[in-house]
Amino acid sequence: MTSQRTYDVAVIGAGVFGAWTALNLVRRGKRVILLEAYGPGHSRSSSGDESRIIRMGYGKDEIYTRWAQRSLAQWKELFAATRNEALFQQTGVCWFAAEKDSTLRASREVLTRCGVNYKELDRDALVSRFSQIDLGGIGEGIFEPESGVLMARRAVAAVVAEAVRVGVEYRTVRVEAPSGSGKTNKIVCGNSGELVHAGEYVFACGPWLANLFPRNLGQRIFVTRQAVFYMSVPAGDERFSPPALPTWLIQNEEWYGMPNLESRGLKVALDRHGEAVDPDTQLRVVTQEEVNEVREYVARRFPALRGAPIAETRVCQYENTSNGDFLIDRHPEMENVWFAGGGSGHGFKHGPALGEYVTSRILGEASAEPRFALAAKETVQHRAVY
Ligand SMILES: Cc1cc2nc3c(=O)[nH]c(=O)nc-3n(C[C@H](O)[C@H](O)[C@H](O)COP(=O)(O)OP(=O)(O)OC[C@H]3O[C@@H](n4cnc5c(N)ncnc54)[C@H](O)[C@@H]3O)c2cc1C
Repeated sequence: MTSQRTYDVAVIGAGVFGAWTALNLVRRGKRVILLEAYGPGHSRSSSGDESRIIRMGYGKDEIYTRWAQRSLAQWKELFAATRNEALFQQTGVCWFAAEKDSTLRASREVLTRCGVNYKELDRDALVSRFSQIDLGGIGEGIFEPESGVLMARRAVAAVVAEAVRVGVEYRTVRVEAPSGSGKTNKIVCGNSGELVHAGEYVFACGPWLANLFPRNLGQRIFVTRQAVFYMSVPAGDERFSPPALPTWLIQNEEWYGMPNLESRGLKVALDRHGEAVDPDTQLRVVTQEEVNEVREYVARRFPALRGAPIAETRVCQYENTSNGDFLIDRHPEMENVWFAGGGSGHGFKHGPALGEYVTSRILGEASAEPRFALAAKETVQHRAVY
């Protein structure tokens, strides 16, 4: 069976990257179809947890600070227009680091240059403000009062709903990767054999990109297991809720978390890359080793939560590039096939800016950013962007 309609662009994958790409394209007058195997922000996708941090600090990597600024404005605009204001929680974001931390220093310089509102906190200020945290080894911090948390899976659903409202056609189907070279004129839906014809094809398939395009990306997208915990807080205790506790990142230890949002408990996760996994087959249950590690950490940094019950867990995956820069580029052989992925554990917040960039590349309005090029992706990991 062949689809009767032809589209300007087919976007494959309705995670945060595909959703914002489809919305940006339709706003620019393009006829767009969005094809998703399971559902927008489904629970096995990288966008599928309850919450994701949006922060401006990126060390020296100014491009991501600027993208986060642009994106926060667009997230808020979308939520206001669709009466979804609660999908952004302005908890503030606090970075904690040892004294004279070089990444914090670089962040301060970039935040100042970009006009981001932030506050420097010395150890005394941190200690008096955050008595619920054991600040051993922490010498300084940065507080971003306007940053916070995006309620991730519902935010993706809101973007897709808005895209559909303004004209995107959405379908739940699994798409086969195209093959050949030159211009592709169709893709095949795996379930039905239906053909979809479009001028351009954007594959925003997150951790599935490596399996779809094994020859080009099999060695260049590193999919890693990441466990997330929600720790119960004591009854009647507001110390772990905003505004008493903001979203927090402890620079040198790779642990981060969010305050008690929507009464789910304190969210805690380790940003260190876990073992290599396949998004279709990995076990979505936390291991005893992961439980022990988080319990030990929480007991050390949040003494009042020593032995606290674990309220919920998630097991997700990062889709890392070799250094953490996104992958946004044309397929090397198929000139109208694009990759948009490589979120690398920090991509969610940037959905709006990424959608804007992909759109302007397709429309021929933006020059290519070398950091996002396929040619810049290596086959050995040396993480540089956090
Ligand atoms: C534990 C964890 C914590 C994170 N924390 C943060 C954070 O605090 N802040 C932040 O900014 N980022 C964070 N990230 C990163 C961020 O969540 C991801 O980079 C981002 O969600 C990636 O979105 P995506 O659209 O590329 O991929 P996905 O959300 O995985 O979407 C890809 C979609 O493509 C679909 N698909 C795949 N193959 C096909 C096919 N053949 N046909 C049709 N559809 C297909 C899938 O079903 C899926 O829905 C975190 C990630 C994890 C895992």
